[in-house]
Amino acid sequence: MSSPTTFGVLLFVLGLAVLGLLIIVSALRSSRTGRTCPRTECGNRNPPAARYCGRCGTNLDGGATRDSTRKRA
Ligand SMILES: [Zn+2]
Repeated sequence: MSSPTTFGVLLFVLGLAVLGLLIIVSALRSSRTGRTCPRTECGNRNPPAARYCGRCGTNLDGGATRDSTRKRA
């Protein structure tokens, strides 16, 4: 037999479990889809939405690999 109180507690626990699962999944996804800098000497991990490396400024969209040793005016 199940009283309304038991049902409510069950729903509450289930909600908490789903919430925790969502948080874990989102954390895993963000850490996996992070875009790593193509420069091996940098290797900085950037957020998925980033277009340029946050450390060295390299284009993460796989454009022309600019020679970083060349100084720009
Ligand atoms: Zn970089």
